[in-house]
Amino acid sequence: MRAGTGFDIHRLGKGRTLVLGGVTIPSGTGEIAHSDGDVLIHAIIDAILGAYAAGDIGALFPDTSEETEGMDSSIMLERVISMLSARLLSIDSTVILERPKLREHIPAIRENIAKLTKLPLDRVSVKAKTAEGLGPIGEGLAIQAEAIVIAED
Ligand code: MG
Repeated sequence: MRAGTGFDIHRLGKGRTLVLGGVTIPSGTGEIAHSDGDVLIHAIIDAILGAYAAGDIGALFPDTSEETEGMDSSIMLERVISMLSARLLSIDSTVILERPKLREHIPAIRENIAKLTKLPLDRVSVKAKTAEGLGPIGEGLAIQAEAIVIAED
């Protein structure tokens, strides 16, 4: 068995699209990033890479390359899984965002991640929290995600 953890944080800005787990969430602000800025998928990718001791997302998809500009993070996730021939067993994750409330979007996000990773829905967990108004996330300036992946050798 292998386990990996992942973390990501992005600034939020007006005029950007908020994408989480490949799902577009209606919001006044979105992730500021070189790619689509999907913090949840980025954290999951780093957790998968971590499980296989295969480096990190920044090395594979540098934010200086033209290819990754505006890139759909779902494609990065599928590429990493196929590159590693990763045999995932389960994913648990947390998104920390002040607003909008994510509860109603969680089912769609889980379904999309299950589809991308070819995992059964009951092996894909996505939780949402606020920062209780504290710090840059609490002020609505940033969004953070954390993930753990369990995989087979
Ligand atoms: Mg990122």
